[in-house]
Amino acid sequence: MGYWWEKPVRVLQFNIEDRYGIYVPELNGRELVKLASRVKANVLVIFARDPWGRIYYRDGAAGYIHSKMKGDIIREAVEAAKEKGIRVVAMIGHTANKYVYSIHSDWAQVNKDGEPIILEHIPYGARAYEPEWPQICINSPFMDCVKKEVEEVVELGVDGLFLDSFRYQPDIERACYCKWCREKFRREHGYEMPTKPLWSDSRWRALWEWRYSVIVEKIRELYMLSKKRAPDKLFMYNSHPGGWAGRTNKVVELARDYMDVVFAECSEVDHQPPGFITEMVKLTRAMAGGKPVWASRNYFHLYRTTVSTTPLAIRQGLREAIIASGSPWALVFSISYKQDPSSIKAIEEVFHEHEVVEEYLDGVEPIRYVGVVISNTTRDHYGRDHPEHYVDEVRGFYYGLVHSHLPVDFISERDLVYDNLVKYRVVVLANTACLSDSASHAIEEYVRSGGGLVATYMASTRNEECIRRYEYSLLSVLGVELKGVFRQPWSYVVVTKKEHRLFNGLDKELILWGDMSYVFTRKRVAPVLGWHALAGLTTGEELAQIGLAGGIWGYEYTLGRSPPPYISKLDSPAIVYNRYGNGSSIYFSGQLGRHYWRTGLPEYMALIRNSVREVGGKPPIQVDAPETVAVEAYRQGDRYVIHLLNHTYNQKVLATSIGKVKEPLPPYSTAEAVHPPRTVVPIDNVRITIEVNGEDSYKVYTPLSKKTLDYIIENNNLTTTLEKLYEYELVIIEPRR
Ligand SMILES: [Zn+2]
Repeated sequence: MGYWWEKPVRVLQFNIEDRYGIYVPELNGRELVKLASRVKANVLVIFARDPWGRIYYRDGAAGYIHSKMKGDIIREAVEAAKEKGIRVVAMIGHTANKYVYSIHSDWAQVNKDGEPIILEHIPYGARAYEPEWPQICINSPFMDCVKKEVEEVVELGVDGLFLDSFRYQPDIERACYCKWCREKFRREHGYEMPTKPLWSDSRWRALWEWRYSVIVEKIRELYMLSKKRAPDKLFMYNSHPGGWAGRTNKVVELARDYMDVVFAECSEVDHQPPGFITEMVKLTRAMAGGKPVWASRNYFHLYRTTVSTTPLAIRQGLREAIIASGSPWALVFSISYKQDPSSIKAIEEVFHEHEVVEEYLDGVEPIRYVGVVISNTTRDHYGRDHPEHYVDEVRGFYYGLVHSHLPVDFISERDLVYDNLVKYRVVVLANTACLSDSASHAIEEYVRSGGGLVATYMASTRNEECIRRYEYSLLSVLGVELKGVFRQPWSYVVVTKKEHRLFNGLDKELILWGDMSYVFTRKRVAPVLGWHALAGLTTGEELAQIGLAGGIWGYEYTLGRSPPPYISKLDSPAIVYNRYGNGSSIYFSGQLGRHYWRTGLPEYMALIRNSVREVGGKPPIQVDAPETVAVEAYRQGDRYVIHLLNHTYNQKVLATSIGKVKEPLPPYSTAEAVHPPRTVVPIDNVRITIEVNGEDSYKVYTPLSKKTLDYIIENNNLTTTLEKLYEYELVIIEPRR
């Protein structure tokens, strides 16, 4: 018998983050439950305490009851929710707490200069400032307040506790140097905390890892306490996977045994590609080792919290979580709820849909094909001050595969073991520089036994502590040895074996490598993007060579920003194919994923798609639809469950950082235009072909639009066509009995 949170749920989070709480007198727990019930949510998440330290239940300690609250919001909600079968989860442990700061300023997190670390945003150069949301240190006695909060809230009869992320960063800009931290670190390590982020200094790296261990230890303590007091109550953590430089992903990877569910806060969605919430659910599930993931779509556009975004943005955002096999979570703030309830109906529409198709969402297994490795060690220790370059390489592969309709998931470095790898036909090491010996052996065995590997640039050249090997640990699998690094701002990849299947659909033999910097203040180009590993062939077969550019920048069109022309080939491979045992690999000497992430050009996408197909063989599902259609396919017993989400929108992002280009004159127009989806363009005739198990009769239907679809079967492949895809459709294929 499982716990309730292991089933798909629909979450409404109602937040009150208003300084003067102007709507608090009008709010009560019964009304919030009524709202949850109206939108068909079955879980309601509310604050036990806000970032000012004000409590939303009576008889609280270590803080004060919200002065404008008339009743007892949490108790009222718990009572009313029981009648309606809705679960109430209280959000606890906010590390921003103005009240605690006011009476115990010494508990605050402070940076190396002794200044308080704050959660809110203030413009640079702001004058003397009183912290509004100071971050309190989890190494200080504040933790006793949080523990007390756990005990109090459990007594209120809630169904679960939701621990907000501990904003306790390893990054120097936000790292805590309070006396509690300093003392604890000195006690445990025998030396002072380094105050300079010197990555060559093992003491800095030790401090970095120590920060994570502190968070994990505190999560564990609270988890144990909560399970001791109330073993049947949910305990969940906010991971915020795309925020905070992605550091929280490591926390979830390390602390996955101390959380029942992970909440993926997706507040960046409006300025990220369509499919971002789907991506974050998959990423978080990989970090959490398969634990349930609940992911949020905000009610508002960007950070305009007092009014709603478009109903379409809300609907598609909630569905993005559903198609990734996560649970949808709508976040509504008190002000927008009171001022602009116009889009509440959009939540209701999707939650109603979710209720209708719930039986097809429970206990599903993804149909696996590619696993893209995401290594927190590589991001932190190899990425250092610029983790985004490594992350771009990974995301470029992810989106290249999603846009090709190939099933793709993430694999965390903790799960790089043979039994897990064999679930995939292809593993991608997108510049996974840091790879342990044991993970390397697992990958070697995986390829030897028939798996496919795609690797780029510095993959496997360092160990799990980021110590250089000066060689690939996977040299036998890749068929190359490392001889050096080619460091030029621009270069080319020159196809030398154009008849190879890798270049199918690619009518270029010269592929530009590198990109200009759009910021262009200090550097002309995106760092390291034009570089290559200088790899010597051992057993591998060369498919392309590195091409030399004439100079370090060019003059055509935008003088000093353009790429220089191609001059000649270097006798050094840029793409290598290698057979290894029963499997094979393709190695790119440069960063293919970053090129696709930055430019979106089809030549990079073709190389991503074709390399994966070359080493992975025929994918288990093929979909003929524009790349703006997101496809996610699952097995549920002998049933196939296929989600189709249509991201064919009006152009979502109109202008971004391109406008930050250093110009001698003011720009013609701002670069700050970010639009939500307003309209979706329907797609005709989406054709799906899927490998089936040899039954001869199937029922193919759409439980939402209630249609039965025709199909044909050829060589264990079932093909069916959906005539019209509007916003979202679910296609079910099951044996007819
Ligand atoms: Zn501290």
